[in-house]
Amino acid sequence: MKDRKSEYKVALFGATLGVLFTAIYDFIKERPILTTLWNSLKWVWKNLFELKITIWQLLLALAIIYTLFKIRPKKKEKQSPDFLNYTTDNFDEIKWKWDWKWNSITRKWHVDNLVPLCTKCETATMLNEDYIDKYSTCPRCDNFMDKLKSSEKIEAIIIDNVHRNLY
Ligand SMILES: [Zn+2]
Repeated sequence: MKDRKSEYKVALFGATLGVLFTAIYDFIKERPILTTLWNSLKWVWKNLFELKITIWQLLLALAIIYTLFKIRPKKKEKQSPDFLNYTTDNFDEIKWKWDWKWNSITRKWHVDNLVPLCTKCETATMLNEDYIDKYSTCPRCDNFMDKLKSSEKIEAIIIDNVHRNLY
């Protein structure tokens, strides 16, 4: 009987380690811990009747599981930088609008869909960039705007504003 009891203890110890390592593995991999919990419960249920584990051992196992749940970090929210809200600004008395696009290769945000808005009706216009002149015509009210800065320059100013917190 004594041998059987120590055998149980070894088995219990092994099982506890097993649960612990599975839980740690899940914890590290940030994968759902539910499988671990389910397996633990099944293990507890099985051992409760077959091995007659003591209450303190059960409590210990539960405490370990509880602790692992507690210290499990909350899923990190994808942090968005503040400047992502900076999508319009006036340059040379013309309002420009743009989007921010994440480039996974350069791992940087860059300006996308940069357009000047019509000075009369604020409609997004189509920028024509000739070598000599940059001009734009409003598709809605045909308002013609010329002597615009190039989108390259505007983008440089936007990036500079972000770097200098001028937005
Ligand atoms: Zn217009």
